[in-house]
Amino acid sequence: IIRFDRVDKSFGDLKVLDGLSFDVDPGERVTLIGPSGSGKTTILRLLMTLEHVTPPKDPAADGGVIWVEGKPLSHMEKGGKLVVANERHLRQARKKIGMVFQSFNLFPNMRVLRNVTEAQVHTLGRSKDEAEAKARDLLELVGLSSKVDNYPSQLSGGQQQRVAIARALAMDPDILLLDEVTSALDPELVADVLGVLRDVADTTSITMLIVTHEMGFARDVSNRVMMFDRGQIVEEGAPDEIFSDPREARTQDFLRAVL
Ligand code: ATP
Repeated sequence: IIRFDRVDKSFGDLKVLDGLSFDVDPGERVTLIGPSGSGKTTILRLLMTLEHVTPPKDPAADGGVIWVEGKPLSHMEKGGKLVVANERHLRQARKKIGMVFQSFNLFPNMRVLRNVTEAQVHTLGRSKDEAEAKARDLLELVGLSSKVDNYPSQLSGGQQQRVAIARALAMDPDILLLDEVTSALDPELVADVLGVLRDVADTTSITMLIVTHEMGFARDVSNRVMMFDRGQIVEEGAPDEIFSDPREARTQDFLRAVL
C-alpha cells in the first residue's frame, strides 16, 4: 500500500533520507524507531505531503518516488513520464491518509464536534448531517461523547489527542500515521490515548505507520519494527525479534538507551 523507491530528502545541505526504499503491505502496523534526527518524522510528513521529496541530482535517474495504493504520491504522470506532483495532485493523493501529530493541532476556535466534521464536509463533500453522525460515533468510540460542545482549550491534553484521533478516522483513511502522539502528554494521560489506538488497531484493518517512544505499545500493536539511523533502515523484523534479540549494534545501543 506504501512504497518508498529510492527516496531522497534534504533540508539545505542536510541529507535526511538517502535513497530510502521500503514497502508496507495493506493492514500492516509498522513502528519506526531510531535516534532523534534519524528521519522518522520526515517519512510521515512526506506521506502526508507536508514535505516534498528532493529530486535526484541526475534528472534521468530512476526512483525517488513515493507510491501509495499503486499510484505515485510524490509525482504524477505527464506525457508517459513521472514529474514532480503539483498541489492539486497532492491534495487528491493524500485523501486516503490521516495523521495524528504530537501537538494535537486541533482548530482552537471550533467546538469538538466541528473539529471532527469540518474536513468531512469541505474535503469529502459529505452533508452536515452525515458528517455529524459520523463524528458522534467516533467521539463515542474515543470516550468523549460528553465533550462535543466544548472547545479544545477546555479539554485535557489526552482528551484533545483523542479528538484528533477521531478527526483523522472521520476521513475513513486507508493509512493512519501516528507521530509521537503521546510525547506531549502527562504520564497519567498516556494510557487512555494508547488504549484508544489499541482499540482502533484491534477493530479495523487500517494500515498504520507509528513513530513512538512507547516500546510497550509498539510491541503490542505493530507487526513490524524498522530501526532507522541517519535516514537508512538499520534492521527490521517482528517486534519480538527486534526488542528481545536485536542483531545490529546500533539497535542494541538505541534500545539500551530507551528501555
Ligand atoms: P525525533 O525523534 O527527534 O523527532 P526524527 O527521527 O523524527 O527525530 P526528523 O524529525 O525526521 O527526525 O528529522 C531529521 C533531521 O531533519 C533532523 O536533523 C532535523 O533537524 C532535520 N529537519 C527536519 N525538518 C526540517 C526542516 N523543516 N528544516 C530543516 N531541517 C529539518
